[in-house]
Amino acid sequence: MVTHYKNTEKCFANNSDCYCSALKIASFHVDICKDCSFFKTQKQVEEGREKAIKRVESLDAITRQSIYDKYFK
Ligand code: SF4
Repeated sequence: MVTHYKNTEKCFANNSDCYCSALKIASFHVDICKDCSFFKTQKQVEEGREKAIKRVESLDAITRQSIYDKYFK
């Protein structure tokens, strides 16, 4: 099994052997992860989602509705 780590942590996008779900690359070499600017740990992804939800919740109702209409309808 090939794993993709940076600073000993696994990237959230490394879903299986040699497949990156973020960049949709199959059969890539592990070296690509070393300098990848998209690298994030699962914890960083979850923290980012939480921050985004808090930001949206801080907006007024009209702005929240327009975001909902644009991205979730
Ligand atoms: S570090 Fe980059 S290339 Fe490697 S799995 Fe994560 S997003 Fe994909």
